[in-house]
Amino acid sequence: MPLELSQKVLDDCKSLRVRRVSFHMHGEPLLDPYLYERIKYAKAIGIPRTYLSTNASLLTAEKGERLIQSGLDSITVCLDGTDSETFESIRIGLDFDTVFQNIKGFMALKKKLHSSTPHVLLQFVATKKNAAQIMDFKAQWSGVVDDIIIQNAISWAGDVELKVDASEPGHQSCDNQKHYIACPNLWRWMIVLSDGSIPLCCLDYQCSEKLGSVENQSLAQIWNGDRLKHIKSLHLKGAFHEIPLCRQCEVPYTSGNPKLRRSFPALMKLLYHQQKLQSTVMAALTRGFFTDTG
Ligand code: SF4
Repeated sequence: MPLELSQKVLDDCKSLRVRRVSFHMHGEPLLDPYLYERIKYAKAIGIPRTYLSTNASLLTAEKGERLIQSGLDSITVCLDGTDSETFESIRIGLDFDTVFQNIKGFMALKKKLHSSTPHVLLQFVATKKNAAQIMDFKAQWSGVVDDIIIQNAISWAGDVELKVDASEPGHQSCDNQKHYIACPNLWRWMIVLSDGSIPLCCLDYQCSEKLGSVENQSLAQIWNGDRLKHIKSLHLKGAFHEIPLCRQCEVPYTSGNPKLRRSFPALMKLLYHQQKLQSTVMAALTRGFFTDTG
């Protein structure tokens, strides 16, 4: 995305009092030549929290130093295994030793520069191939990075077959297909792709449900637009199956406390016409069940 367009989006975020901006989506953010300028701009205009997630394959000392100096608040680095065989069978094309050393090097650099930021989360996505390594992984990295998170594998709204057994550690199961909540993503985040398009959510990697574009609309216009309102109302009615993308998605069945999910339809009836209350209630219902990485 051109720098000017990202600055327009960030200005919109500032006026909407957005608390956190993430500088990644489906690609690798360290490939972006304007990444550091975008983060600096966000910090200069007062965005409270800036964040990105990287596979760390390009996290060299030079890039690491520029990230630290940009003012980035938090970063997730991904390593899904404790040995090269496991890791490289999951992250096809990456080299375990490079990623391992880059993460260690970045932590050393932070120390050398006496920088408390960015806060570094090390993420491990559990799959059938690596689930047995979770305990060793935690032991290996505990005290080295700032935080460790074991993330549940997701099906990308049904596009990828989940190869994780629900009983395996770290996996949050769909315990009952009858109990759902409206998808909290619709109230929490807005995604802007590199061409300015706004997809429905972070799982809509093909932008099959396009809500608009920042090329010719403001974030506020899209956030308050009729299309997103309609989709939210379908979710509140429990009719999210009417949206093809949401039909196969496990998020409504895995978000929030299972007990709360049982009483959710009744609660949503009460909230249906209370637009202002919806965001607050959705945030409260799902707090702690998403990776709040900032
Ligand atoms: S339910 Fe729909 S909006 Fe929510 S994460 Fe899944 S695909 Fe996205």
